[in-house]
Amino acid sequence: MPEILLEFIKAMRDGRLRVVDLTAPLSPEAAVLRLPAPWTNTPKFKIWELSRYDERGPAWYWNAFETGEHTGTHFDAPVHWISGKDLPDNTVDRIPVKQFIGPACVIDVTREVQSNSDHLLTVEGIKNWEAAHGRIPAGAWVLLRTDWSKRTDPEQYIYEKEDGPHTPGWAAECSQFLARERDILGVGVETVGTDAGQAAKFQPPFPNHYFMHGSGKFGLAGLCNLDQLPATGAVVIAAPLKITAGSGSPVRAIAITP
Ligand code: MN
Repeated sequence: MPEILLEFIKAMRDGRLRVVDLTAPLSPEAAVLRLPAPWTNTPKFKIWELSRYDERGPAWYWNAFETGEHTGTHFDAPVHWISGKDLPDNTVDRIPVKQFIGPACVIDVTREVQSNSDHLLTVEGIKNWEAAHGRIPAGAWVLLRTDWSKRTDPEQYIYEKEDGPHTPGWAAECSQFLARERDILGVGVETVGTDAGQAAKFQPPFPNHYFMHGSGKFGLAGLCNLDQLPATGAVVIAAPLKITAGSGSPVRAIAITP
């Protein structure tokens, strides 16, 4: 085995490297995005038993499931948005697998979100983070740490009021800056979607989706355990299912961290 991989395996075994699960449990209880009428909503995760060591299959247990592509902790491909619909290799089955792996830049806005659930990261917020931690490198996953995933009550997680959900995210110009001025893989969030709760009213609507996917970048929604990652120094692996022409998929996102 080459030295570089040998060293990697050794570091995993002796604890110099740790693997963190960034994925929430995928079950019928998993909260899903709620779109207002007349838009079609995504189904919740459904699962049913085929056999469990019984007359339906005496020695085996297995289930079948049905899910939306964008249910639970999931991956958004560029084709998910109209701005990315004509890009090459824009579906989950065609994205080069190398692009599922990248260094993590974790931007912590938990303090701001505690006092304002609608908090939006700005370009200035990115620049401040870079002043402290260095420039966001090419091929990075930029992860917005909000601790939102610690809301275990689905109603508190979706946090919908009369005028729609109130969850944190990115200012439009921040998504535009990350998509165009930093050659990132994409962004990840702890909330149900990669845009802020009120983003249907932004210009353009859902700007993070618009700018990221229009630039061939990806999204990760519903992440958890971002509080276990350093600001820099971890590597994230987020590989979606290879659904033919798929716009996204539930994903088992993991981080390898010192
Ligand atoms: Mn999605």
